[in-house]
Amino acid sequence: MSENAQPADELLDLALDLRRWVQVHQADHARLRPAADESVPEPESSPGPEPSPLEVEEDLATVNEALPTISSLGELGESLADCRLCTLHSERTQVVFGCGSHSAEIVLVGEGPGRHEDLQGEPFVGEAGMLLDRILAGVLGLQRSDVYIANVVKCRPPGNREPLPDEVSTCSPFLWQQLDFLKPVLVIALGPFAAQTLLQTSEGIGPLRGRVHPLGDSALLATYHPADLLRNPSDKRKVFEDMKLVRQVFQERTGRELPQPEPRGVRS
Ligand code: URA
Repeated sequence: MSENAQPADELLDLALDLRRWVQVHQADHARLRPAADESVPEPESSPGPEPSPLEVEEDLATVNEALPTISSLGELGESLADCRLCTLHSERTQVVFGCGSHSAEIVLVGEGPGRHEDLQGEPFVGEAGMLLDRILAGVLGLQRSDVYIANVVKCRPPGNREPLPDEVSTCSPFLWQQLDFLKPVLVIALGPFAAQTLLQTSEGIGPLRGRVHPLGDSALLATYHPADLLRNPSDKRKVFEDMKLVRQVFQERTGRELPQPEPRGVRS
């Protein structure tokens, strides 16, 4: 929203933000909601006060007319460039939406942007990101431009703290929408935060890694976060094993091999 925006424009912007959030949340809930158990009768809902149908319809019509339908990953990114749906917007430099190929078959998901990402507008560009690039090239034979990289939250949490539950519930629907557009073969969750958010579990990274988790039509594999590897280099061996599983599951699901890795790899 521009600094010179008129109150009416600000209201419309706010309405558009809310509308987009509701739309994405509806898709999110539809995706995550377990199938209805028809043996359990629906609780009787208590009739609330009826909204004035004319008022509601007029408001929605105005918002619907103004809201461009989001039909691609690029459009979703553009629509979030000025997002102010949670308090993280107040301290960020920019929204870090995601990067990489829009036809990627592998999507990597981290927690949230750090300082370097906030400044450069791209996920995983700091020291942890450089290690991630070496893992991709060294074990999977892939460049970052071959995959897509995103985070659970798109704005940097101050001081690199973990995103708060309300920030995750506000922002994660956009991650689901990114995945809906990409329809990847594999999702690699980098660290417990991404894995737990995507799988809606509180299990630790130890028991989550080494297994294939169904995620819609995709498969999710969890591994350590590269920043954890910088602190505990001895876990690189486990990540190497996790990436071998990525190669195997990719081959099983597509009938194709990932490229052979570069000679220098994750252990360099
Ligand atoms: N850590 C993350 O989880 N994501 C980034 O983009 C950078 C560091």
